Amino acid sequence: MSVQQFDRIALIGIGLIGSSIARAVKEQGLAGSVAISSRSEDTLRRAEELALGTDYYLDAAEAVRDADLVIVSVPVGASGSVAQQIAPNLKPGAILTDVGSTKASVVAQMLPHVPKGVHFIPGHPLAGTEHSGPDAGFADLFRGRWCILTPVHGTDKAAKKKLSTFWETLGSKVDEMDTEHHDKVLAIVSHLPHIIAYNIVGTADDLETVTESEVIKYSASGFRDFTRLAASDPTMWRDVCLHNKDAILEMLSRFSEDLAYLQRAIRWGDGEKLFDLFTRTRAIRRSIIDAGQDTAAANFGRPVAPPDKPS
Ligand code: NAP
Repeated sequence: MSVQQFDRIALIGIGLIGSSIARAVKEQGLAGSVAISSRSEDTLRRAEELALGTDYYLDAAEAVRDADLVIVSVPVGASGSVAQQIAPNLKPGAILTDVGSTKASVVAQMLPHVPKGVHFIPGHPLAGTEHSGPDAGFADLFRGRWCILTPVHGTDKAAKKKLSTFWETLGSKVDEMDTEHHDKVLAIVSHLPHIIAYNIVGTADDLETVTESEVIKYSASGFRDFTRLAASDPTMWRDVCLHNKDAILEMLSRFSEDLAYLQRAIRWGDGEKLFDLFTRTRAIRRSIIDAGQDTAAANFGRPVAPPDKPS
């Protein structure tokens, strides 16, 4: 158990990310009380059944009253309306943060509503899975993962330090970036891979000459690894695409040019070009493992035998 860092934390949105924070806060005793809010009765009731917090509210504005730390964990397209709703009840001196996957759009939506005296420090934990909802969370989600803070001009240093310490206690390593740079970096490391995965799985689904049952039956030869990303939450990813439009379009056009280069190499039988690229990309995988962002276990650590058979 760590020391208590906040008297009261309010978690607005209690899906995968909100409920993972709630579990970590509870496990480590980081807050005196934890107010939880979700817009639907079903999700809120489930959070209560899971005992993720101490108080439960359908009204987000009620939940933030008296909270020293407010964490908004809703799809990025909803961050403006949530900020508008909670603004009148935010306590002076409170820290307001979010976990949204895009940052420039979230700042543009939330900042105009933030009352004077409230420390607004946008954030983004680079940790997640393809699952959603309060049951999907787990306390260790952030362990060993980066959390990027994108402070706005004039951010209070003590508040920033407090928020960094909070994320570090959850096991994260904390970095700082400006919002535009964050959105470019994330466009290539997260948004583009998801869009490519959605696209390839969609292409396979649309094929006429190969049946769907063949795609599924033989999926372990590569396709399966894209389906994990392509199973990610449709609302979240719709919002990411709409709210990081410029950076995503820039990366997509670079990607299309490089794909055309690869296409030409295949068409002209240019084995040297193909071999050079595939060697360069293999080294990237090595660097990711060396940086502790994945393990070297073959096949992403999956058992060799299918899960229904003993391995
Ligand atoms: P999630 O599991 O789908 O949970 C979403 C939460 O937001 C639920 O409490 C939901 O309430 C609420 N919500 C949905 N639409 C809303 C709206 N229009 N207005 C107000 N509340 C709304 O989502 P998540 O994966 O935790 O993602 C939350 C945020 O974290 C997103 O901004 C996402 O970009 C970011 N993020 C996600 C990941 C990831 O891998 N999933 C990683 C890093 C950051 P109800 O269930 O009551 O409708």
